[in-house]
Amino acid sequence: MSDADLDLTSGLPPMDVAGRTTRLLALLDGAGCDVLLVTNLVDVRYLTGFTGSAGVLVVTPGGSTLVSDGRYRAQAAEQVAASGAPAVVGISPTQAGQRRLVTDAVGSASRIGLQAAHVSWAAQRSHAAECSPHAALVPTEGLLEGLRAVKDEGELARLRAAAAIADAALAATRPLLARRPTERAFSLALDQEVRRLGADDVSFETIVGSGPNGAKPHARPSGRVVEQGDLVVIDFGALVDGYHSDMTRTLGVGEPTPTQRRMLDVVLASQAAGVAAVAPGVACSEIDRACRDVIAEAGWGDAFLHGTGHGVGLDIHEGPPVSATSAATLVAGHVVTVEPGVYLPEHGGVRIEDTVIVTQGGSRPITLAPKTIAP
Ligand code: ZN
Ligand code: ZN
Repeated sequence: MSDADLDLTSGLPPMDVAGRTTRLLALLDGAGCDVLLVTNLVDVRYLTGFTGSAGVLVVTPGGSTLVSDGRYRAQAAEQVAASGAPAVVGISPTQAGQRRLVTDAVGSASRIGLQAAHVSWAAQRSHAAECSPHAALVPTEGLLEGLRAVKDEGELARLRAAAAIADAALAATRPLLARRPTERAFSLALDQEVRRLGADDVSFETIVGSGPNGAKPHARPSGRVVEQGDLVVIDFGALVDGYHSDMTRTLGVGEPTPTQRRMLDVVLASQAAGVAAVAPGVACSEIDRACRDVIAEAGWGDAFLHGTGHGVGLDIHEGPPVSATSAATLVAGHVVTVEPGVYLPEHGGVRIEDTVIVTQGGSRPITLAPKTIAP
């Protein structure tokens, strides 16, 4: 196969970036504000396409203004225009100039929303000094998180492409495991394959945990050589146009022991129960319970050390949370992971994770790599 055949990122459909601002504006009054200062850069990207490392977006009913510094003069103009966002770009080389651009964009609005989770105390005090006594600052929470959790077709296409790259990368790399590489060498080979297949980057630092290291849910790849009889937990993903994929498979070198075999069977059954429960209208806590019940019944409730899953998109971990305490309910367009595990230091770890799209009728997994343990 030539590299051209392998390009899984071509022909991605456009995203409705302009519509995101319209949906955000409809929420502002209910949140008690007239305008919103968007300071989380991932949210700025979501609303404008801008990927720079500094900037603030002032969202107002009359249009939005992206304020950044001189490094991003050309990039900001190009990306905002390409996205179709209803925004103009204001650039100043100085912080004082940028503050003035923000103040001008806010205009005479009397209720200025801030993203409470993304503003430092120092920044809040500075905003307060500037807008007082004409206007009030209003803390907001979860406005963009809620919008971002529901993906449009363009976003789903990017997530599917990222997941397909991860599937192909694991298929190409898994035979290496039989040659007993170090964890680090295996993760390097996997990461290289992810990039070779057209991803912009890996989704997050790849986890490869062999033998006892697999019993630490977030083990970093070490110099440990994979041994005969090891289970190997591999958790990784690809990044495509800002969108992350996330998948875990557990492979084995040699024949698993009876306990390891039982761990694999229990986690596979737990993960299947969780995926089967994913549908619109279902509480995220129910997904967690569906997974946890199977593992608890096997007597390993205490060995399932983490939440069941999370939303995934422009951030690797975003809304909705899939855990026992989650208050969220699934709707079509949510994209969540289902990733139960059992971790027993003397036997190793088993985790199986899929990323799943919530559809009108139920769910569709987008991570499709086989769940067999043979390399
Ligand atoms: Zn993962
Ligand atoms: Zn995950």
